Amino acid sequence: MLANVEYAMPAHKLNNPRHMKLDQAETMIQKLRSDSRQRLATAIHEAGHSLVAGQIGIPSWYDGSAIEHVMESDAWIVTFGRTQVPIKCYQRLTAEQMARLAVAGRVAETVLLGAEPIESSECDFESFLLSGKGRPSELIAIWKRAEEQLVKEFRADINLQRAIVHEAAIFESQIFPDCLDSVREPSKEPSHATVV
Ligand SMILES: [Zn+2]
Repeated sequence: MLANVEYAMPAHKLNNPRHMKLDQAETMIQKLRSDSRQRLATAIHEAGHSLVAGQIGIPSWYDGSAIEHVMESDAWIVTFGRTQVPIKCYQRLTAEQMARLAVAGRVAETVLLGAEPIESSECDFESFLLSGKGRPSELIAIWKRAEEQLVKEFRADINLQRAIVHEAAIFESQIFPDCLDSVREPSKEPSHATVV
């Protein structure tokens, strides 16, 4: 088992015979940890969430890497690191606030790293769609508006960008404390991922 990883699954999945998906999940986390650019992208993404949580006025904190087996769907979820907010605060948000919070990770990556995040925001989008704050078509429209608006705001405000970089450094020091920098080719691993 890897250090600094939360394993959320029944014990029999961890022990013999070891589940193949578990090995794959651990490999994904090790790959991210050895890749400074991926760690940076993850940190910038999570810093975006955290910054917008602060703007909306709700507390947030970071949780580290996790491997989770969802029994109902038999899905394996790999998280490299994530921003958490109290569920009660989250549920009180309007659909617009929720969209802003959820899209902020993606927007931070887009604006600060200049690269379009490919899969990193799928989980954010999916969980927003499942929020129950409206019909899917309404929520998709709200998401798109929130994204356009936030891109404009982040691009226009250098102090906001500085705050995200500062926050990303805090995330990295908390969540990847043992990582050594290494220079590798950037890859397109998402900051949240499902091992299918
Ligand atoms: Zn996210």
